Amino acid sequence: MNSPSQPDRNPGSLSDELEDPPAPAANAGLSIGTVDHERIARAVREILIAVGEDPDREGLLETPARVARMYAEMFSGLHADAGIHLKKVFTETYDEVVLIRDISFCSMCEHHLLPFSGMAHIGYMPDGKVVGLSKLARVVETVARRPQVQERLTEEIANLVESELGAKGVAVVVEASHSCMTIRGVKKPGSLCVTSSMKGKFRTNQSSRAEILQLIYGERR
Ligand code: ZN
Repeated sequence: MNSPSQPDRNPGSLSDELEDPPAPAANAGLSIGTVDHERIARAVREILIAVGEDPDREGLLETPARVARMYAEMFSGLHADAGIHLKKVFTETYDEVVLIRDISFCSMCEHHLLPFSGMAHIGYMPDGKVVGLSKLARVVETVARRPQVQERLTEEIANLVESELGAKGVAVVVEASHSCMTIRGVKKPGSLCVTSSMKGKFRTNQSSRAEILQLIYGERR
């Protein structure tokens, strides 16, 4: 097999295919610019040929470049640090539950590269530190813009809130509909996948857990 350092190819327009992607550390703070649009476009063209299409017909001419821009957007979270949104905290003595409900998001299932979308609910019990409410939505946005599975998305959000805020408890509930379930395979439109991650008091204390679930689900269901 070819070794990555010795590509068995002539240098030329395709030689960059074998280059390693830039190290994430070198791109801290960057987002869309770090995605190799050319490479995606070439791959999309290949897919079109593979399914029996003519990528040179008029309607498809711009498609590879368009899909490249879309993936750059959908995966921009790969090049961003979600924790950065939780660095600016405010000191507050408030120690009751803070809940942001119905944070909408759209992510990409890493098994099919099809979108899954829905709502995230983030609750936490501060221990002297609170964060601007919009920052929690930014965390969801960043973590969602990566190839994901819903379970890991949920856990990553909870871990970030717990570690960055040092909260006494964190509860994250995510509800989403997966296109890979609704438009292909078993084709079950309307199915909803619910995942949760409970940390600290919400994990150990039954009444705290019941309270946060009541706040998330109460009234509307
Ligand atoms: Zn899937």
